[in-house]
Amino acid sequence: MDCPRCALPLVETEYETVSVDVCEQCWGFWLDPGELEEVLLVGSLVFSEEERESVLGARTAWDAGPEEPAACPVCAATMERASYDESVHLVIDRCSRHGVWLDTGEIKKLQAVAETSADIHRMLLRKLGL
Ligand SMILES: [Zn+2]
Ligand SMILES: [Zn+2]
Repeated sequence: MDCPRCALPLVETEYETVSVDVCEQCWGFWLDPGELEEVLLVGSLVFSEEERESVLGARTAWDAGPEEPAACPVCAATMERASYDESVHLVIDRCSRHGVWLDTGEIKKLQAVAETSADIHRMLLRKLGL
């Protein structure tokens, strides 16, 4: 499986005790269905107030301009874009069959939002069908 941005092979690695696929060049994450929820449930990464602000305020690839939607690394279909939360500039690439692609920094933003408000976070994930 290759990175949808860099075309380099994704490396299987453990993140928050969950086995995920990561690109070592752009630090994008590929998560199979259910893995994102697992990562967020483990939630061992605890942000200080400062870290949270800097993570939530950080620019992501999306802020630099809407790049081409990524192709699913499993089936190569163009992924759907789902806006998680406009206030934190988070737009997620998703293949309804195979999983989600998180560009650089997006997984930390999701974790920071989840930590800030578990209820809002759950509602948003449901809205996205994740
Ligand atoms: Zn990459
Ligand atoms: Zn797919």
